[in-house]
Amino acid sequence: MPQETFVRVAIDRPLDRLFDYRCPPELRLLPGQRVRLPFGRSDTVGVVMESVATPAVATSRIRTVGALIDPDPVLTAPLLELLRFTARYYHHPLGEVVLNALPPALRRGAPLPGPRVPEPLWRADIDADPPRRIGPRQQATIDALREARAPLTREALNDLTGLGLRRAELERMADRGLLGTEPATVATTEPSGGGPAFPLTPEQRDALAEIVGASGQPGVLLLDGVTGSGKTEVYLEAAAQTLDQGGQVLILIPEIALTPQLIQRVSRRFPGQVAALHSGLAVNDRLRAWDDARRGERPLLLGTRSALFTPLPRLGLIIVDEEHDPAYKQQDGLHYHARDLAILRGHLESVPVVLGSATPTLETLEKARSGRYRHLRLGTRPDGSQPPAVHCLDTRVHPTDEGLSTPMLDAMRGTLAQGRQCFMLLNRRGFARVLSCDHCGWVADCPRCDAHLTVHAAIRRSVCHLCGYIQPLSDACPQCGQALRHLGVGTQRLERALSRHFPDTPLIRLDRDSIRRRGALEQSLEAIRGMEAGIVVGTQILAKGHDFPRVGLVGIIDVDQGLFSADLRAAEQTLQLVLQAAGRAGRAGDPGEVLIQTGHPEHPLMRALRGGDYAAMVDPLLDERHQAGMPPYGYLALIRIDGPGPEATQRQAEDMVRQLRRHAREVRVLGPAPAPRHRVNRRYREQILLASSRRATLHHTLGETRRHWEAHPPPRSLRISIDVDPITL
Ligand code: ADP
Ligand code: ZN
Ligand code: ZN
Repeated sequence: MPQETFVRVAIDRPLDRLFDYRCPPELRLLPGQRVRLPFGRSDTVGVVMESVATPAVATSRIRTVGALIDPDPVLTAPLLELLRFTARYYHHPLGEVVLNALPPALRRGAPLPGPRVPEPLWRADIDADPPRRIGPRQQATIDALREARAPLTREALNDLTGLGLRRAELERMADRGLLGTEPATVATTEPSGGGPAFPLTPEQRDALAEIVGASGQPGVLLLDGVTGSGKTEVYLEAAAQTLDQGGQVLILIPEIALTPQLIQRVSRRFPGQVAALHSGLAVNDRLRAWDDARRGERPLLLGTRSALFTPLPRLGLIIVDEEHDPAYKQQDGLHYHARDLAILRGHLESVPVVLGSATPTLETLEKARSGRYRHLRLGTRPDGSQPPAVHCLDTRVHPTDEGLSTPMLDAMRGTLAQGRQCFMLLNRRGFARVLSCDHCGWVADCPRCDAHLTVHAAIRRSVCHLCGYIQPLSDACPQCGQALRHLGVGTQRLERALSRHFPDTPLIRLDRDSIRRRGALEQSLEAIRGMEAGIVVGTQILAKGHDFPRVGLVGIIDVDQGLFSADLRAAEQTLQLVLQAAGRAGRAGDPGEVLIQTGHPEHPLMRALRGGDYAAMVDPLLDERHQAGMPPYGYLALIRIDGPGPEATQRQAEDMVRQLRRHAREVRVLGPAPAPRHRVNRRYREQILLASSRRATLHHTLGETRRHWEAHPPPRSLRISIDVDPITL
């Protein structure tokens, strides 16, 4: 009689365990394969993690695998190892971690897409008369095709335009005679790529040589260079060399929606070789991109944080662009940090990891300084331009009206007179911070959260930015009936004030509200580059790595919040934001200027900003962290508890603190304390902070505590989450 075999399977349930099943005799199951399984009264999709000789369940009660979904494993062995580590490190159920690594369609059991069905190529009709009525998306499509001077696949077109065009939309355009098609050929014509357009500078060559020299072995290299110093060029060149040798390259970027230029730059450089993976894709396109990368058909994978979990059998290089960006940290569910896991993946697969930034995080800088990371520096810009001069405007001397001081307005006039652009950064969208009554002190609050409502004048509504609660704007105080006033300034109010000061200057606003419509961001960025606007008002979106040729002035409207916030990383992130925004100013030959409005010009951070040297700015911050035992010198985990009633939630949290203290060895247990936002969407949030100078002891405490919860589950109404290495406290 043949020996029975068993497999241990991961399934998508919030349980901290795997499940054992019997293999049907005709199947030989491999780790990483998907299977259908009976589970409870229904069936589910699972991923085989390993074979086991003796199951953890009595063989009389064990159930049998229903069917094999994939002939080949969908997850590779090193990836399964990465996922196991991820679950352990972030204290998250392994089954959820494994299933979440798959594109949504595969999680639900859809088959792998199989070979591509060729789609037609699209071309613009150069000679066609311009039609009368044509939308902006259609115009952008036609422009891209004309510029490419060759028929393109829908995918190549999407890479170039960032429009996410569906096939049906292109077919409608063809029906209207706006586009022509050509039958798909096996070798698709795409715009030609080629190497860099210019020779690398000596600094760039040195950095490149170090990266290339590190190939084939694990190790982290920090590519530390001011904005515009040519970092992207260096790692595209490094990617090219890896591709030439038959390797695959993973490039992680913080947020694809905000950086359409980068994806275009990469797809132009590596035509036909790029799979782009991000949440903006339709389910099927996403599955396709994932599978192209997995099969190595497209050897360069460019994606946002979850692209990290894509199997890449010939992986040769990992690049994390803008490593300081907080978007790399997932803020709900599995609280992983994609940069940290990328480093681990590099280690597991023996490939180098390049972290790029003009403003690296303190964690990364500390590791570079202590020699654990190779520190590559690019100190100058290839075009010879200088970083902008930074000055402060003391708002105690020059009070602001609707966010603007007189010297700021004067500087703007000067800049506009030179035919250059003004970028005004205000990291608060909406019209005003709050709606309040001068007479009785009433303030418009969210009925569900501890938050003031933000006024959005354009839609005449007040909105809660935490839970989305929305209500019509009122002119009179609901408490005393007197007229209401708007306090504080948001981007919309600043926009209105600026268009009053500069009635003849075209203005563009860039914030989450203004770019909600598909393609709106691309259009705005294009308009800014084309000098269609003299003034640009925006949130941190302005500070992303966009390349603008003629920015003369970057005005920072309000930084004081960041100087005095209790949050661990507020100061660091304020520095990063200001410097990233400053990086937009000045290019080739004309240096720009940065003006910061602050009521605290003598604050050490403001003094440091004026000096302009990021490396020098971080020293005092690192000292502070050292003294406080905070990262990178200590390790943190945050436990968040949220429940429906304030007292019950607090009692539970106190209970938990007692539990934690019992298991804590060399771990400080702080709290419980109400979370900075105590009430959100009618639920109450408490948090407990664990701090230790040793990672292992911190994890030991977390592990013991989780075991305790499994044995004595807290009430169902309570939601508990663990955030290891939190980035906001
Ligand atoms: P970063 O990623 O550091 O912000 P980029 O790689 O985007 O810098 O380069 C900034 C600008 O300088 C881009 O327009 C790029 O094309 C250009 N550039 C980069 N390297 C060189 C070089 N060696 N010679 C000339 N121009 C360069
Ligand atoms: Zn709310
Ligand atoms: Zn009132």
